[in-house]
Order: sequence, then C-alpha cells, then structure tokens
Amino acid sequence: MAVRRGRPLAMPDLRAPDIMPVPMELLDRGACGGRASVFDDESETMPAKLLCASCPVRARCLDHALEFEEFGVWGGTTPEERDVMRGHPFRWTWEQRVEAQRLRTVFSRGVAEEIIAAEYAVSTRSVQRKKIEYLALTAAA
Ligand code: SF4
Repeated sequence: MAVRRGRPLAMPDLRAPDIMPVPMELLDRGACGGRASVFDDESETMPAKLLCASCPVRARCLDHALEFEEFGVWGGTTPEERDVMRGHPFRWTWEQRVEAQRLRTVFSRGVAEEIIAAEYAVSTRSVQRKKIEYLALTAAA
C-alpha cells in the first residue's frame, strides 16, 4: 500500500458510519432525480425547497438526510433545519466517514500493522489498539 500524502495523522474514529449511496427510490422517483446535492449553493435553497414541496418521496428523502446527509437541501430541509429536527448537529462529517470506512476496509483486508502505522505516522501499538476497536465494533454489529 503506497503512503498517501495529506492524510491526517490522527487515526479516524471507527464509529463514523459508512458513506451511504442515495437510495434508489429517490433516484427513481425524486423530483430532483436524487440529485439533491446539486442544491449545495445557498442561493438555490428556495428553488430547491419548492421542488421538494411537490416531491412524491419527500418523507423518505428526509429520513435518509437526517441520518446521512451533511450538506444541501434534502426532503425540503436545509442542513441547519435538519440539525434542529435531530436535536443536535450532524455528528459525522463526510471526511470522517470516508476515513473511517477506508480504515475499516484496510483492517478487513488484513493489511500489515506496520504498513498502516507508517501511513498514519503512528506506532504499531496505536494500530493494534485501533484494530481492537474495529474487532469490537464488528462483533457488536
Ligand atoms: S424531496 Fe427534494 S431532495 Fe429529496 S428527492 Fe425529492 S426533490 Fe430531491
């Protein structure tokens, strides 16, 4: 495994959930074609909300967004409105989820601890501790 430049030195929190693809139902039936992420620009908030207002899968879209979407208008809501609905800010950033997903994959493939340690610039002991976390999370799932 090649050392990747620019990787944060801290190892990711493995509790961060995977990146979730947009559900097929939203792609098939959503008024935006499941492309809500095109509404990231704040100037598009009102047009996006208008589109969502007549969308047949709005409720399903909102369920998905409350759990998985950090940016953009989804299910007729802005990120700030979803924070209020959840009662807390979105817990995991896109980057945290990508990094956690990647490290889980690395562990699941049995990549040598020394290689992982070199990539993150941490000790093999740190990798071993993280691997114990990974195994505990996997067993609990
Ligand atoms: S509710 Fe809005 S964001 Fe969700 S699928 Fe429909 S149009 Fe797209």
